[in-house]
Order: sequence, then structure tokens, then C-alpha cells
Amino acid sequence: MKDLNVPYKIYLEEKEIPTAWYNVRADMVNKPAPLIHPGTLQPLSFEDMQPIFCDELIRQELDDTTQMIPIPDEVLQFYKMYRPSPLIHAVFLERALDTPAHIFYKFEGNNTSGSHKLNSAIAQAYYAKKQGLKGVTTETGAGQWGTALSMACAFFKLDCKVYMVKVSYEQKPFRREVMRTYGASVTPSPSMDTNIGRKINEEYPGTTGSLGCAISEAVEAATSTPGYRYELGSVLNQVLLHQSIIGQETLAACKKYGIRPDIIIGCAGGGSNLGGLISPFMGEKLRGEADYRFIAVEPASCPSFTRGRFVYDFCDTGKVCPMAKMYTLGHGFIPSANHAGGLRYHGMSPILSQLYADGYIEARAVEQTSVFAAATTFARTEGILPAPESSHAIRVAIDEALRCKETGEEKTIIFGLTGTGYFDMTAYENYNNGNMTDYIPTDEDLEKGFAGIPNLPL
Ligand SMILES: *Cc1c(COP(=O)(O)O)cnc(C)c1O
Repeated sequence: MKDLNVPYKIYLEEKEIPTAWYNVRADMVNKPAPLIHPGTLQPLSFEDMQPIFCDELIRQELDDTTQMIPIPDEVLQFYKMYRPSPLIHAVFLERALDTPAHIFYKFEGNNTSGSHKLNSAIAQAYYAKKQGLKGVTTETGAGQWGTALSMACAFFKLDCKVYMVKVSYEQKPFRREVMRTYGASVTPSPSMDTNIGRKINEEYPGTTGSLGCAISEAVEAATSTPGYRYELGSVLNQVLLHQSIIGQETLAACKKYGIRPDIIIGCAGGGSNLGGLISPFMGEKLRGEADYRFIAVEPASCPSFTRGRFVYDFCDTGKVCPMAKMYTLGHGFIPSANHAGGLRYHGMSPILSQLYADGYIEARAVEQTSVFAAATTFARTEGILPAPESSHAIRVAIDEALRCKETGEEKTIIFGLTGTGYFDMTAYENYNNGNMTDYIPTDEDLEKGFAGIPNLPL
């Protein structure tokens, strides 16, 4: 019954790698709301952003109209080190689930950084170098973004300063060492080297940090060091643009082999992999050329889409960054300490937020024990040890495939397998020992986060 006549692993040829990124904003009727200045509440201009971001990246951030943006040659060359990434037909998983559904996954973990984040890191490092900068700063939570940017900076010979959320710095010493091997300096956050780090340490003594505070520190370091800019691995429009390479390749592979997905699923932290995977398909949907269901999967312990508010909020805890209109749990929200599955950011990409508000995307929140159960099933059938983040998408892909088993529908499901989980073995250990628990924030817990959201007349 399963003869789709496609290879188990679909690789495009090198010459078939798309040479332009796709900008989904060009096809959106309701554009994502602009970033605004927290003082003036005015949209940020090019000049406002110049002290923080590289010039070309600001142009991309602000560009709501250019549909295709050519990928620079140097970036394409680097992409060829690990791209095209395979679209894999999950036949072993299908067999184990005994489902009539066809399941495919786009695997982005085939590079040393272990995740899709390299797709944007390369572009961002390239534009910094081209502008003649000395270095860049950034934050990293679990470590994938910091690792990716370290690799990209090594390639383009740029200095890279990473502020790593303290709890990860301590729990993931090997991630830290990978970054240092690529030449980055890694500082646990909150640190005592920045004003905002000292302030956060004073306000919350003993805090193990959050992505929001690490962002504040990295921005401060960039804006106070000549020749440096800040780079961010998710959430921003430019990052979704770079990540569209995932969707462009997936769409090309689908066209080549006659695969027609019914459902496309991705995990959602800040939204970059999901946005990148679905963008070209979303473009077809927005232009009325095809129809797909898109499902964003988030942790029940950090449920921005399913329980957050669609309002302007700060992108970081320290309130040094601009504000974005997005689904948010409040910039002060810190997920429960027992949450091991990544995807801890309080907000969500403004592009995906707008598409979700307009009804183009569905969202589902899943509990971490069920995520690790799905990860285990996947590892034992397909062989790849998935990142906990990616496993949120696996969970819902399995759920949808099991639903097909009940209804007998032969749906085609594609999900994003964003990375590998070799640096997450403490979380797997907890799961294997039966020590993993679920924590779903109560409405009261969430109210505390919402209370910190500024009340703007917007
Ligand atoms: C960072 C990361 C994510 C989540 O980030 P998005 O911007 O939502 O894509 C998911 N999976 C992996 C492996 C990651 O490293």
C-alpha cells in the first residue's frame, strides 16, 4: 500500500539548491507589525537599528515587499558544506505506527552545530564581515545558536562573543567547548560584565538566567563596543528569511517527486525553523495556489501561541531591545526549572504571530514527557537521536499519523527535524530514569508574566 516511488532519503543535487531566499511578507496581506521604539512608540527606522544590527540585515528586516532575495555566493558556498539537507521518508516510523499516513521529515541536524540555526548564522556573519566589522555578540540558550554563529564567525574570520544562559553553561560544558574550539568567547549570563547583568544579578540573586537576560547583555555589549553588532538566532524577520532555505528545498523536493503534503508541522520556540519550513508553502496558500494545514508545536510549559497575548512586548527581560507585536507570555516570564525541552522563549516571531492571528496556522501545546516518549519512538525506528526541541514536532506528527490510522485517511505529513540531541543527554537521562515531570503553568502563573507587559495605546 505504501508504494510512493520515492527514495528513502531525498537529496536534491547541489545545482538544485535554491539560490534565493523567499520572503513570505511579500505575499502577506496583513504585514507583521513593525518593531517599535519603547520610548517614542514609533516604528524603528533604519538609523534607529544601525547601532545594533548590520546594515544589510536591517534592510532585510524592514523589507516587506521583495519576494525573492538572492543568496550571496559566499553564503551559498558555505551552504554547500552541509546542504542540500535530506527530506527523509519515515518508512520505519510509519511501519511502527502501522499508519496509512505518509510521513516525511526535513533533517537539519547534519552539520556540526547540530541544528538549522547555521542557515541564518552564515548569512548574518557574512553581512557583518562585508560591512567591515570586527566582531559580533549574541546570546545562546541551549547552545545551538551560539555554536552555529561560532562556526560561521570562524569561517568569515570574525570575533564572536557569546552570552550563554548560566544554567546551560553549567549543564552543557561540551557545548561551551565546541564554541570555544571555533574561537568564540563564552560568558555565563547574567554576568557581572554588563550593567544589565549586574542589575539582574542584584534583583534576582542566584538566578540561573534566561534567554531574555542573555539577549539584554549581548545587545549592551554590542552597542558599547566599537566595531561590533548584535546578531539574533530566531524571532526576527531576517532570520525567517534565511531559514526559508529549508522550505525552498523541501518544496523543490516535493515538486520533483510529486509529494503533496496535507499537513506541515514544526516546533516553535521563536519561530525560525517553522517559519523557514512553511514559508514557501504558505506563499502558495496566500496566493491561492494550494492549500495546506500548518501546525506549530510548543511546550505546554511555555505556551506563547496557545495561551499568550498578541500585543507589543519587549523582546528581552532587561528591556534594552525594541518591542515587537507578537504572541507573548510577558518578557518577565521564565519557564519552570524542570522544563528540559528547549523552546523557552517568552515571545514568537511577529510574522508567524500575524499569520496565526489571521487563521493560517494552528498551534498545539504538548507536555514534555509525551515529547520524550515520541523522541524515543523516533530514535528507535528512524535511528536519529532527535533534539528535544525537534521532538515536539515528532510528537504531533505521530499524533496526526495515529489519527489517520483511526480514520483510514492516507494523509501526507511533513515535519521539520531541526536537530540532534547529543548535548541533551541529561534530559534524556531524566526521562529514562522516570524522573521527568510535566509542569503546566496555572492561569495565575501566566498572569504574573502578563502583568509585566507594558500597556500601550496600540
Ligand atoms: C533553536 C532551536 C529550535 C527552536 O527555535 P526556532 O527559532 O523556533 O526554530 C528548535 N530546534 C532546534 C534543534 C533548535 O536548536
